[in-house]
Amino acid sequence: MKSEVFYCNGLRFSCVRCSLCCRYESGFVFLSEDDLFVLADALIMKADEFVAAYCRWIPSEDGYNEELSLKEIPTGSDNFDCVFWKDGCSVYDSRPIQCRNFPFWDFVLKDEGAWNRTAAGCPGMGKGELHPFSEIQARLNERREHPVIKRIKTWTSNSS
Ligand code: SF4
Ligand code: SF4
Repeated sequence: MKSEVFYCNGLRFSCVRCSLCCRYESGFVFLSEDDLFVLADALIMKADEFVAAYCRWIPSEDGYNEELSLKEIPTGSDNFDCVFWKDGCSVYDSRPIQCRNFPFWDFVLKDEGAWNRTAAGCPGMGKGELHPFSEIQARLNERREHPVIKRIKTWTSNSS
């Protein structure tokens, strides 16, 4: 219910394009089916070619599945830029839901503490444009309506 969430009066956020969330640290950029087709179209590739070139499968928390994420480019011992970061997002108009909707993710909106911890690494959070509750809910719903692509985990002879 609206009155029960800490963001009932909206939240301030304006991206300052610092690229901190696209670069340096390792992380996952998960793709929905729509994300995959939009990105593949933008690069004039077939979906399977795009997956082979730009994606990796990440084991999911349940241990039985894997989820599709963009790759990173390790450019140094502790620098893991997104595969599409080239002096900014090179696929900005086609960027995935996860990127478009940051910081309005379930995980970040779990409670005020989670929001504040995430804000410590993002200079755009807590200031700038006021995003109303209705918009935040719409962004959360977009993620729920476009789940991340999953497949059953592929076991190798070395898997335990
Ligand atoms: S860290 Fe925040 S301000 Fe910087 S690019 Fe990402 S969303 Fe924008
Ligand atoms: S797709 Fe673009 S916005 Fe998303 S993490 Fe990669 S470089 Fe950043």
